[in-house]
This record gives sequence, C-alpha cells and structure tokens, in this order.
Amino acid sequence: MPHSHHDWQRLAAELTADGRAFIDGQRQAAQAGDWLDSLNPMGGPPVARIAAGTAADIDLAVAAARRSFSAGDWSQAAPTRRRQVLQAIATRLREHATTLALLDCLEVGKRIDEALDDVEESARLFDWYAEVQDKWYDALAASPPGVQASMRHEPLGVIGAVVPWNYPLHNACVKLAPALAAGNSVVLKPAEESSLSALRLAELCETAGLPQGVVNVVPGHGHQAGEALGRHADVDAIGFTGSSEIGKRFMVYAGESNMKPVWLECGGKSPHLVFADAGDLEEVADAVAGAIFTNAGQVCSAHSRLLVQRELAEPLLDALCRRANALTLGDPLDPATTLGPLVSQAQFDKVCDYLRLGRSEARLACGGEPREADGGRLFVAPTIFADVTPDRRLFREEIFGPVLTVTPFDDEEQAVALANDSEYGLAASLWTRDLGRAHRLCDRLQAGTVTVNGVDAVSLQTTFGGVKQSGIGRDYALAGMQKYMAVKTRWIQY
Ligand code: NAD
Repeated sequence: MPHSHHDWQRLAAELTADGRAFIDGQRQAAQAGDWLDSLNPMGGPPVARIAAGTAADIDLAVAAARRSFSAGDWSQAAPTRRRQVLQAIATRLREHATTLALLDCLEVGKRIDEALDDVEESARLFDWYAEVQDKWYDALAASPPGVQASMRHEPLGVIGAVVPWNYPLHNACVKLAPALAAGNSVVLKPAEESSLSALRLAELCETAGLPQGVVNVVPGHGHQAGEALGRHADVDAIGFTGSSEIGKRFMVYAGESNMKPVWLECGGKSPHLVFADAGDLEEVADAVAGAIFTNAGQVCSAHSRLLVQRELAEPLLDALCRRANALTLGDPLDPATTLGPLVSQAQFDKVCDYLRLGRSEARLACGGEPREADGGRLFVAPTIFADVTPDRRLFREEIFGPVLTVTPFDDEEQAVALANDSEYGLAASLWTRDLGRAHRLCDRLQAGTVTVNGVDAVSLQTTFGGVKQSGIGRDYALAGMQKYMAVKTRWIQY
C-alpha cells in the first residue's frame, strides 16, 4: 500500500481509466457516440472520457439484465453459490482497493484515506449480504388442517440503481450488494462526475463469477440515461440516492410508466443537539466537527445544524473554531490533507452563494471564504455561522459543503422543536447524561437514525434512511435487501 504523497501522485499519473459503458459483459461506447469529460476538482486534464449513455443504451442494458434474470443462472442460483460469488466480489474489491480509491479521489476530490475506507466499507457490504444467503428463513403462516400457507421472498427482477457522486463506489455498492443478494439483475447509472469506480466494479463482479448481464453500468447525464431508466417499462424497481428534488422526479417517472416501487435515499439537514450535561466538551467538539467537515461536508447525513444549550454555546463555538482553523486544506492525494476540495465548479459556486448569504443572515464565527490550496481552486474554508435563527435559509436548506450553523436553545422542548423544524429527517445526534432525556428524544426526534452520545451511527446491522423529504425506504440490514424482493403467499391445500 502506498504511503506518501509522492507515491500516490505517481500512481495517479500511471492510472488509465476506461469510461465506456459496461453492458452484457462488454465495454462499449454510447450508441449515439457521445462522451462527457470527467474532471478532476484539483484541475488539470480530464480524468477520462465517459460514455454519455442515452435511452438507447439503457434499453440495451435493461434487455441484458432481463435476459440474465430469466436465464436463472443468478436469480435461481443455490444460496451457497450466491454466497461464494458475493464473497469473491468483496475479495476483488480489497485486491483492487488502490485503483478504486484513486478513481474516486481523482474524480471527486475525496481524501485518499477516506476513499480507501470507502472501498473497505464496500467490501464489507458484500461480505454481509453474502452471509445472509444461507442464513435466511422465510415464514410459514398459521393455517387450517390440510393447508400449508407460506410467505416467501422472491427477487423482483431488474433493478434500476441511480447514485450520486459523494461516495461513488460505496453508494453503488449500497444498491448493488443487497439487490444482487436478493437475486436480481441490475442496471446502474452513476453520477456524471464519478462513473469510473462503478464501471470498474462491474468488471470485478464478473471476474468474481457473477453471470454475464447481471450487472450493467450505463454512465451518462441524469436527464437522459437517468430519466430513461426511471421511466423504463421493464424495470421492476428503482433504488435511488441523490437530492430530494430528483428523488421526487423518480416518483413521477414511476407514476407515468409502470408504477414500479421507488426507494429513495435523499437529502438532509441533520441536527446535532448538545445539552448542558453533555460531558467532556472536547470530545463533543471533535464529534461535531467531524460530523460536518468529513468529505468537505458533502455528506447526506452531515450534521449541519448545531443546536446547543445556551450556557455551552460560546465555549463550544470556541472549541469548534479551533478545530476548523486547524484543518489542512490540500491535495486529496496527500495523506497530510484533512480537508479536500469540493467536487465541481457548480458545487463550489453553490456553497459560495451560501457563504455570501450567511454573512447577511448570521454572525460569522470562522472561515467564510473560498481558498486556493496546492493549485486547486475549489476549496472552501471550514465555516461556522453563529446565532442562526430557524427562519433563515442557512438553517433550512441543504448546503452540502463544510458549513455549520449554530443555534442556541434554552430547554428540551425548544431543542426538539428546533430539531424537527425541517423538511428533512435523515439523522439526528444528541449529547446528554440524562438517560430519561435520551429515551424521550429518541421517541420525539423526526429522523431515520438518532444517535445518543456519539454521532451518526451507521452500521450494516441497522437500517439507514430518512423520514419526511429525506426519503422512502431503508438501506442496510435485511430491510435493505427485502425492498428488492416481492413476498409471495403460497397456499397449498393437500
Ligand atoms: P442529484 O440528485 O443531482 O443526482 C443524483 C443522481 O441522479 C445522479 O446519478 C444524476 O445523474 C441523476 N439525475 C440527475 N438529474 C436527473 C433526472 N432529471 N432524471 C433522472 N436522474 C437524474 O444529487 P447529487 O448532486 O449527485 O448528490 C447530492 C445529493 O445526494 C444531496 O442532496 C445528498 O443529500 C444526497 N445523498 C443522499 C444520500 C442518502 O443516503 N440519503 C447519500 C448520498 C447523497
């Protein structure tokens, strides 16, 4: 494993990436012959040319997925065989970790150590769903004499998966691993900014023994390849991760086509509640800073709203500003970097607009400026705005950058009201030593996950997803697989 900045730069310079689609086991250019450039947020030449797939490519990929599903080599494979293949995919991911991490790092500016962690997390997803294969039991129902009634999970068929750029490989695996584990075939559409690791993943799946046509990856623009997948009449369900705005469109696509179920993991504006009895302030400050500055704040469950009991507000703010100012902005290939660039010019411009807005809406505690580092121009200094009232856009809108708002509260009632005053409901974290309050708030906070005395707990064993406009359905755990299955009642009279 390379260690130094120099090693990673050398490997990046040697890397060749193939941006062609992967359909029915073959690499191919888009039918219309169009390409899009994948850009490195640090500047320089494009990382690769990416096939810009359209409806014609989606048709080919869905047909391949359907053929493979009907052939039954995967959809009806024995559980032990599926387990072995899924485990082999996990092994391939680990064997190719350096390349996969580099691709994500170069395309989206993700820090190389975080990108390596994402590969390991992706491998664990396949390991976990592999283990489910031969340890899974369906249900026999109570039934009258002479009847055997059972409810059995079956694969749905062809799953369309559409994912964003912030965790390119990992988001792809969060859809692929459970959908494949359920016995489906898949057509995946990665984000325009970040197609390369998903395309490589598809190749690795086949070398691990997945039958041809079971996984297909069609890169391209959302309004072309993404919409075509969402509207396709032969796609049985959609697994989408991305913004709430586009998630809503997938509901329209489904309603206007074949009424396919649409599972949505969307945006967030997650609150972090710190009560006066939180305990060690330095530990809390580490958690609060990590929950907003990781991946440059480009995280769906980023805890972007700090709600703090008034007497702790200023000391905690000081501790947070110290941490923000100590971050090292720089090349994501440099292991010394602790904050990388934003993914694209568009994302940078959007975050800078919020910085300008913040100056007029609230008190700037630290940061607030674009920066340049290592020659890259898409950096934003880690930023904290204090005294942000709930009527402000800064408090309400998902910024998706390293920007934290701080709002003081006086009591538990006000804290809950502020936390729930959002159209989103993905995650919430709180710090208190009062066990009764911990349970009360777990009941009352509107979120898919509530973490107490820690932050943003995500594990394979527990579900992840949102309420309100953060989404529909859950990833991870058995629920993440069951949503790609249909339950069939079998009623046999004998
Ligand atoms: P996005 O919604 O713009 O794009 C997501 C995907 O949808 C991309 O593949 C894109 O090409 C595709 N798409 C775009 N327009 C489309 C259209 N008209 N029809 C069909 N497909 C279309 O999101 P993004 O900017 O890539 O990612 C950031 C968003 O993702 C944030 O809102 C973030 O909170 C969310 N996100 C959520 C989770 C979660 O698990 N809840 C995880 C990661 C990111």
